[in-house]
Amino acid sequence: MSCVFCKIVRGELPAHKVYEDAETVAFLDIHPMTEGHTLVIPKLHAERLADLPPELAGKLFQTVQRVAGRITQALEAPALNIGVNDGRAAGQAVPHLHVHIIPRFPGDGGGSIHSILYKPQKRPLEEIHRLIADTL
Ligand code: AMP
Ligand code: ZN
Repeated sequence: MSCVFCKIVRGELPAHKVYEDAETVAFLDIHPMTEGHTLVIPKLHAERLADLPPELAGKLFQTVQRVAGRITQALEAPALNIGVNDGRAAGQAVPHLHVHIIPRFPGDGGGSIHSILYKPQKRPLEEIHRLIADTL
């Protein structure tokens, strides 16, 4: 398997791992957006969130919570952006699901998740709600 993150899981590529358990691993992003930018991944290869078995989605987010706490303490980071580029159109470059944890500091010049894109929707909220909620 040529997946870069699977290679990190198997120890075939070096990484600055900050946490590891049976199902997940967290390591520093090689091109950090801010100091402490960390990626949390499932060890199981899944390209997108929808591909992950639900019980592993829970495990993954537990690790995100744990590592986020460590980063907050260790780097005295007052805030974090936590997110997933889920799919190529959303900017996903590495096709192995990963959660970004990006420490944020006052005055660092960065935006919020709202700065990804601003395209007012054409259809009314009610219609969008019906489309999504009906599938639950
Ligand atoms: P994304 O655009 O969400 O797919 O982001 C992929 C992230 O993986 C980028 O922030 C890269 O800097 C990071 N990355 C790619 N290869 C490695 C690697 N070998 N070790 C650590 N981080 C990596
Ligand atoms: Zn993989």
